[in-house]
Amino acid sequence: MKYALVTGGSRGIGKAICLQLAEAGYPIIINYVSNKDAALKTKQMIEEKGGTAELLPFDVADGKAVDDAIMSWSEAHPDDYIALLINNAGIRMDTMMVFMQNEQWNDVINTNLNGFFYITRRLLKDMLTKRFGRIINIVSLSGIKGLPGQTNYSAAKAAIIGATKALAQEVGARKVTVNAVAPGFITTDMTKDLDEADLKSLIPMGRFGKPEEVAALVGFLASEEAAYITGEVISINGGLYT
Ligand code: NAP
Repeated sequence: MKYALVTGGSRGIGKAICLQLAEAGYPIIINYVSNKDAALKTKQMIEEKGGTAELLPFDVADGKAVDDAIMSWSEAHPDDYIALLINNAGIRMDTMMVFMQNEQWNDVINTNLNGFFYITRRLLKDMLTKRFGRIINIVSLSGIKGLPGQTNYSAAKAAIIGATKALAQEVGARKVTVNAVAPGFITTDMTKDLDEADLKSLIPMGRFGKPEEVAALVGFLASEEAAYITGEVISINGGLYT
């Protein structure tokens, strides 16, 4: 069986992606770091719609925890493999660089960028051997345009965009596609401290995006129909930046 693993699948955009891919028929592996209640809620919603899901908690920023989790999953699933990987787990810790502490730089790089590396390298081998895989990295407008107050986050997301393009060329011959999705402002816990009323005046569509809208794009990139799209960064930002 081909499984879909969504990092940070307990809440926000990741949760919507879990539901979207479950609807496409994939059994879902919901990763999270600490919020078990939210992860269980996502699992329940998938099951209520007739899908299947399991929880796989680990900190994407901890290379050993990633290795251990994937090893124990593989031992429990000898006939299955993870064909779809959605690198969605992410954090932001905004401050102007002049005030930025080592911890704020390192935590954001470790979770967003190193997390992508630790998990992706572990799952590549099966995708290459089975000659099918989809890797979709959730990046950000911040990694394309750069946003003040987010040098750490912009750097991490821009680095993932570079890695997406490089990896796509490494694995294309084995029918593994690697793409990035770059949202603008999406209504989730991550953006709840932002002044939506103020910011939406900057957005041509006049509103924040919904997690389900990002999930629909991810669902397309994960599908058979998207087999010839690879190494791309697709923006979804209501026209905020093109
Ligand atoms: P969110 O609502 O804050 O949810 C974050 C998710 O990531 C949660 O499931 C959380 O798990 C998980 N997570 C955080 N750190 C983790 C770690 N070290 N290991 C494993 N899981 C971890 O965020 P969101 O808005 O849905 O964002 C999802 C992705 O989209 C992120 O990569 C973000 O950078 C990107 N993005 C968001 C926006 C936006 O406007 N919202 C815009 C552009 C890009 P717990 O529930 O256990 O904490």
